[in-house]
Amino acid sequence: MEYLTVTSSGRNQFIDITGEVRNVILKKGVKNGICFLFVPHTTAAVTINEGADPDVARDILAYMEKLVPQRNGFKHAEGNSDAHIKASMFGASEIVHVVDGKLALGTWQAIYFCEFDGPRTRRLGVRVLPV
Ligand code: ZN
Repeated sequence: MEYLTVTSSGRNQFIDITGEVRNVILKKGVKNGICFLFVPHTTAAVTINEGADPDVARDILAYMEKLVPQRNGFKHAEGNSDAHIKASMFGASEIVHVVDGKLALGTWQAIYFCEFDGPRTRRLGVRVLPV
């Protein structure tokens, strides 16, 4: 298991980590297998979506803020229930196939670390298994 360090600069932010995950696969030297990604946090997540047009990530974040406003009469005393809800909606893990030493992502796909309660320094676990 390898941990990537991800530093967010805003409260809600999508950070493209595709290159960092690719580097772990190169370092491990796995040619064909499975790459597991896991976020060990309750107010952050990982997702795969379009990486070509940065407006897609901006639109997703803007829509999530409308869908789950920060102040909404939540009971959780820490005041970040919106972040917990968003983290569960996106999920803590992703799986990507590794083919010929490369992430088998679609042409427009990128891997995003999803920050919902930043700015913070976070971790993301990467495990690459040959299959
Ligand atoms: Zn909390």
